[in-house]
Amino acid sequence: RVDLAERAARVEEIPPEVLRAYLGGRGLGAYLVRAEGRHRLDPLDPSAPFVVATGPLTGTAAPTASRTSATALSPLTNTLFDANSGGFFGIRLRRAGYDALWIEGRADAPVVLSVDPDGVRFEPAGDLRGLGNRAVQRALAERHGPKAAALTVGPAGETGSRLANVAHGERFFGRGGLGATWGAKNLKAVVVRGEEPIEVADPEGFAFVVRECRKWLSAHPVTSRGLPEFGTAVLMNVVNAVGALPARNFRESRFDRADTVSGEALREITVGKKACPGCPIACGRRIRLGGGEVQGPEFETLWAFGVDLGLADLAAVARLNLLANDLGLDTISAGATLAAARELWERGDLPWDPLEGGEAGVARLLEEMALG
Ligand code: SF4
Repeated sequence: RVDLAERAARVEEIPPEVLRAYLGGRGLGAYLVRAEGRHRLDPLDPSAPFVVATGPLTGTAAPTASRTSATALSPLTNTLFDANSGGFFGIRLRRAGYDALWIEGRADAPVVLSVDPDGVRFEPAGDLRGLGNRAVQRALAERHGPKAAALTVGPAGETGSRLANVAHGERFFGRGGLGATWGAKNLKAVVVRGEEPIEVADPEGFAFVVRECRKWLSAHPVTSRGLPEFGTAVLMNVVNAVGALPARNFRESRFDRADTVSGEALREITVGKKACPGCPIACGRRIRLGGGEVQGPEFETLWAFGVDLGLADLAAVARLNLLANDLGLDTISAGATLAAARELWERGDLPWDPLEGGEAGVARLLEEMALG
């Protein structure tokens, strides 16, 4: 439990009955935020906690079990909010000996919180201020080595954008504007190192269940073919075909150019897959773009920038995805906001068309949304 204002931390035991009653990171995070009545605070009050919580399976051999929850009061919705990401952070946190990490308070200067089995350190982050997520992650990897896992915020989090996310490499705790709570805390990054093994109570029984789960995953067409072959974008043509693809700010349910931003189109420029640790599905994509190899957009981003904004241009959506991710802006929230603005313009309630400049215009607006 870390107080950035006091630059102090202590380890607290979570009673086993709480861990059982609120099984999993989402439940545990919600319990912890509510437990002291802090859920009534303003989300940007530095005393409002930001909690990273793992579940009992995080970091075990269970497939897809690298997922980790971030729970805080949402600056966007003003509700108790949970965002979820795969990756190494939760695994390292558990291997450092912690089920959850509670962060409160505002540091007097930008700070990187460094966590390991011996406790925490508060490292100055003045040199990282204003940097995008990719540069911060590179800098932290150089300082802390390849075995450290880092969460970061980009400029959007620092400026307090209510669309700001918290990044974990190429994965994100996306919705709810939780990145803005880091700006309110002067927190630029959290790094965790931990290498202790994670014990399971019944190794033999657990290994059996894991084998069975893997069999189910390899027998199901979605997890054995659809997601591995097309990534999450496999959904695009399917959802469009059944008339459930929200387009033009949810005014329509089909997009006549959905094929241009579909999983099939993405496959044409895919050069590799990316999996969260221990996941046999590997729904992440690496794609060819502008002579380089970059992170490919997920279904939700293809929908938000491609379908909801009507940008039927896969390369443009991929570039906007990279920009938003580096700025620390949630692509779903940002795309939906711009789509709503477009509808206002169409109805005569906004004097300028947010999509007038095409990709370049959207890129400018994303920067304005992030930088203030
Ligand atoms: S690779 Fe995809 S399916 Fe596997 S855990 Fe990560 S997000 Fe889930």
